[in-house]
Amino acid sequence: MSYESARDRRGPFVTSCDVVVVGSGASGAVVATELAESGLSVIVLEEGPRIDAADHGRLRPSESLRHVWRDGGMTVAVGRGDSPTINVTMGRVVGGSSVITGGVCFRTPDRVLDTWAHEHGLVDYGAGMLDEEFAHVEERIHVEDVPRESWSRSTKLFDEGAARKGYRLQPMRRNTKGCRGCGRCNFGCPEQAKLSVDLSYLPRAVAAGAQVWSHCRVERVRIRGGRAVGVEGRLLNGRGGRPKDRLCVHARRVVVACGAWHTPLLLRKSGLGKRSRALGRKMTLHPGFRMLARFPEDIVVDGWKGAMQGAYSTAFEHEGITLTDLFIPVSVIGATMPGFGARHLRNARRMRNMAMFGGMLHDEGGGTVHGALGADPIVSYRMSPRDRAAIPRLLRLMGETFLEAGAEVVFPGVLGLEEGLDADAFRRFPFESLPARRLEASSQHPLGSARMGAEPSSSVVDGAGRAWEVDELYVADGSVLPTSLGVNPQLSIMAVATRMAWRMRERRLP
Ligand SMILES: Cc1cc2nc3c(=O)[nH]c(=O)nc-3n(C[C@H](O)[C@H](O)[C@H](O)COP(=O)(O)OP(=O)(O)OC[C@H]3O[C@@H](n4cnc5c(N)ncnc54)[C@H](O)[C@@H]3O)c2cc1C
Ligand code: SF4
Repeated sequence: MSYESARDRRGPFVTSCDVVVVGSGASGAVVATELAESGLSVIVLEEGPRIDAADHGRLRPSESLRHVWRDGGMTVAVGRGDSPTINVTMGRVVGGSSVITGGVCFRTPDRVLDTWAHEHGLVDYGAGMLDEEFAHVEERIHVEDVPRESWSRSTKLFDEGAARKGYRLQPMRRNTKGCRGCGRCNFGCPEQAKLSVDLSYLPRAVAAGAQVWSHCRVERVRIRGGRAVGVEGRLLNGRGGRPKDRLCVHARRVVVACGAWHTPLLLRKSGLGKRSRALGRKMTLHPGFRMLARFPEDIVVDGWKGAMQGAYSTAFEHEGITLTDLFIPVSVIGATMPGFGARHLRNARRMRNMAMFGGMLHDEGGGTVHGALGADPIVSYRMSPRDRAAIPRLLRLMGETFLEAGAEVVFPGVLGLEEGLDADAFRRFPFESLPARRLEASSQHPLGSARMGAEPSSSVVDGAGRAWEVDELYVADGSVLPTSLGVNPQLSIMAVATRMAWRMRERRLP
């Protein structure tokens, strides 16, 4: 029916509907749309603001960080033992993290689906068994190949190095239509070319009668007699967007889709987590690392011209490593370059000769949600020995590939490193013995903190997303994926959410 903002509302907001969906991101938007289109009355509650797609181009990256990203992009999972502290980024806006993705779309690899079926008892999630849901989502968000012609020079140089080292990059697939390769995807697409859920799904939900409310923070699922009967929380209509008036939505079914970072917190505050130890544990992150490379002055890279994420390689998948292209905005690269003062300036002045590539680990799940600091969870991450050993291997792979391609120096993300490393210095650099606290690591893919499974003793929801502990309570977001994927997750999350919504449609409301 409409988009509404609670920001300007005065007084308590009490209402009712068939299904309330908490979170409007990749998963919440899918569930809301599928259910609204089946004729149910649906309300979506989102903590963040709604930014009109046409307005993204007007926001500077620093403004996007403030209005679209959670905590200005400063959230961390604290490293335990010899694990790096990992900067974990998320969207907090109508459309969720989907609004700030690079647009990369991968189906869940068959080998991963097979482990879900055979090791987690999810027998209807085996290889090929999500094909119908994938095709449905891909059609709605327009997943297409990134043509090699749109690869940036940064990508092409890495591919040249890869070819000399005996492997090649493959073109990515992305949810875009009419992409102009401006490289701003992580700050919201100014061209409306990236079909994030605020453009692809939520308008359909609204057309089918759903209400999408921004500035609504849900704090608890209301449970009566073992059944979810709604949610309550606060409207963010106080001074400076602080929580003020009461929010209460009575609903016959509750779907939690807050993302893997916040869902365990909401479920715990609602009294769940007693039947198994799975809630808030074994969160996977796909810890990511990047490598910058400076080429000689006559090689003008201008890495911002072209698709921001155009290519990838799974050549090292057997080692738990996926190489993924990226070129973040120059203002951000400039701010993260090593050195101070004149040295920093010298490095930053050579931006036109800079190339960049990234890689992530198909990790085993060392994340734990401990409790809350205000409205946000405290999360720690202890890396498994296998994943820890893969970090120096990944850094060497990326650096050597750029050096093969003719880079004069490379800049691994190592804290305290004041200068780039030439080929000799790079080979001598002691990556293998470096303490993890010196490694810059980031993640955009928290997953698995309320995982689905076949047994209530080892999972939080079943394969249809139904909570084991409470009737009519569903979880449909990235927290249900039982393992990491080794590839970017949005398409997997959306396909699983589609399946869950289709199963919900088949089950009568109480
Ligand atoms: C910078 C960045 C780049 C990325 N690039 C890619 C990519 O190229 N390809 C890819 O596959 N994946 C990418 N991802 C990951 C992908 O966006 C996420 O995996 C996916 O969006 C997660 O979906 P979700 O529904 O679980 O959570 P989200 O999409 O994060 O949605 C959760 C929503 O719930 C809201 N919420 C949380 N708590 C509450 C509460 N208590 N009350 C009300 N609302 C609440 C949040 O504000 C948020 O809007 C990227 C992520 C980031 C951050
Ligand atoms: S690169 Fe393409 S999808 Fe990304 S912001 Fe620019 S036009 Fe949009």
